[in-house]
Amino acid sequence: MQTIGFIGLGNMGGPMAANLARAGYLVKAFDLSPDALAQAEAASCVVTQSAVEAVQGADVVISMLPAGNNVEGLYVSGPTPLFEEVKEGTLVIDCSTIEADMARSIAALATERGIDFMDAPVSGGVGGATAGTLSFIVGGTAGQFEKAKQILEGMGKNIFHAGDHGAGQVAKACNNMLLAVLMAGTCEALNMGIKNGLNPKVLSDIMKQSSGNNWALQVYNPVPGVMENVPASNDYQGGFQVDLMFKDLGLAMDLSQSSASPTPMGSAARGLFNLHKAQGNGALDFSSLIRLYS
Ligand code: NAD
Repeated sequence: MQTIGFIGLGNMGGPMAANLARAGYLVKAFDLSPDALAQAEAASCVVTQSAVEAVQGADVVISMLPAGNNVEGLYVSGPTPLFEEVKEGTLVIDCSTIEADMARSIAALATERGIDFMDAPVSGGVGGATAGTLSFIVGGTAGQFEKAKQILEGMGKNIFHAGDHGAGQVAKACNNMLLAVLMAGTCEALNMGIKNGLNPKVLSDIMKQSSGNNWALQVYNPVPGVMENVPASNDYQGGFQVDLMFKDLGLAMDLSQSSASPTPMGSAARGLFNLHKAQGNGALDFSSLIRLYS
């Protein structure tokens, strides 16, 4: 069985590493947060004192960090760049959502060193990470995709090859821009229903069976108490932070700008999440956007 070095054990990385350990891989796990390390240990990962220690002797390295600068620092420009620590032929899978250009440039540096680096951002939220049903959206060569597939199947259900390096990040930016638009629209509609006397659960059931049905209504209702086990019913803790959605909308706007693709809806959604963040809600789950309306 292969040894996996796993860096970044937050809301997503924690349950992903736990699923790999459950599948029988030896998972050497590292995070800057002691709490995250304690949870990983309870989930049968072998916790390490540093990222370098986690990747020593590993066949595969997986990272799940907040943003592009974290990923670039980890592998290339930080105090102990992991590309100088991993052995030749190592498969490095970055599952963080980062800039497509940055994923391409990190992949090019990896290739020079005989390391296989792929972008493999995910969709499916903390629920999907916990249940092992994530979608992986992979950018890399066909050979690298084949090499990674079995490991990704230990954490996800749908494994897509989007194209060459960076393509996974482009597809992910398109998806999350759409998600932001859908969540904003769902908050807007539910708030209007509530203000006009409707029960949000009844309204949600109606729209789920009607043409307004979407992912937010199905599995991520933003109104507290409508659904169990979603951030809205846990004071918007856990889940997908407003800060991260704001970052992803920035990535989408960069792609829009560089390709002159019109994105008026994405741009409006970015404005809403920016306002919500500016009001001090960056650390809350993104479904808390409904508070901006109510
Ligand atoms: P998070 O903030 O919960 O976790 C990130 C973890 O990385 C933290 O525990 C932090 O301590 C750790 N970390 C940061 N720098 C580090 C370093 N140099 N070395 C070791 N550990 C380090 O974030 P998350 O919600 O798990 O998201 C991770 C990535 O997944 C982001 O790019 C996000 O956009 C993406 N994503 C999140 C969701 C979601 O629903 N939360 C869904 C899809 C994709």
